Amino acid sequence: MKKYDVKCPFCDTVNKDLFLEETHGWMICEKCQRESMSYKYITENTTKVPVLTFEQLAHMSRAGIARK
Ligand SMILES: [Zn+2]
Repeated sequence: MKKYDVKCPFCDTVNKDLFLEETHGWMICEKCQRESMSYKYITENTTKVPVLTFEQLAHMSRAGIARK
């Protein structure tokens, strides 16, 4: 499982070796204990799962590429 180093947006402390996949991008800062979501994790993981409209999905399904 991939580990992430995330800088806290509140206090700028770098939280190391976080398993963001388990928390879906959320982390609790070890210093200030505030919750935040890693922008880096989100951008990395949303590019792999593009958001499609229903029309696009229907089109892909008809074209036979949705099950690829
Ligand atoms: Zn913090």
